Amino acid sequence: MGPPGIPQPVERRDLILTVHSESLQVPVPARSATMPRQEDVKILVVEDEPKVAQALESGLAGEGYDVTLELTGEGAFYRAATESFDVILLDVMLPGRDGLTILRTLRARGVKTPVLVLTALDTLDDRVRGLDSGADDYLVKPFAFAELVARIRALLRRGRASDSLRVTVGDLDIDVVSRSATRAGRAIDLTAREFELLHYLMAHERQVVSRESLARDVWKEQARTVPLDNVIDVHIARLRRKIDADYAVKLIHTVRGVGFVLREGEP
Ligand code: CA
Repeated sequence: MGPPGIPQPVERRDLILTVHSESLQVPVPARSATMPRQEDVKILVVEDEPKVAQALESGLAGEGYDVTLELTGEGAFYRAATESFDVILLDVMLPGRDGLTILRTLRARGVKTPVLVLTALDTLDDRVRGLDSGADDYLVKPFAFAELVARIRALLRRGRASDSLRVTVGDLDIDVVSRSATRAGRAIDLTAREFELLHYLMAHERQVVSRESLARDVWKEQARTVPLDNVIDVHIARLRRKIDADYAVKLIHTVRGVGFVLREGEP
């Protein structure tokens, strides 16, 4: 964040968003049965202007979303590279690395999370318009909160529609309905937890997944009162024996100090 008390021209425009905060009261239409429960939907909000960030955080939390806030580009980059989100709201004008630079780097690393870019009119250049930095949609500030929620829903629907019941990485296949796995056509016998762990790693192919994410999303451990690191490591080791031991190309890799990544070839 910039030094306090020094106004930046773009940030003043951001403040107009707060004028629209009465739209936080807009009633929410019933959501479709195919949508996940909203508390399961994780949204990363990247916005450096504190008032706008707080309005977004409380508004989206009020809609039932699980909101994580990052005020800096560096913080946002680390979060998005190490945790999984369903949607990222990304402000363009950030101190340090700007939003579009962050977005291009994430896309280059294989992060496929839908990204909605929030931009002031004077930064709405061709890079944003053409969405060639990897954005899925953009909104020009100031925007009505109801419009933001509608766009988020649209991105979530698109994401779900492309979710496959079969996931393939290299010669490794899983079928999410029958909960079966094969490598090079050979069936692999997995426990329920091992299957969920493998599914999660494959769904985040080429993304580094932290032990914290696994504890939260695979083991559903919210409180972290019981450290699961050893349990996770044991399961990863078992999964490796089943998935990788007999094959020259290894798929599950440890990224020291960060977590694990599933990909063909070295991370
Ligand atoms: Ca900003």
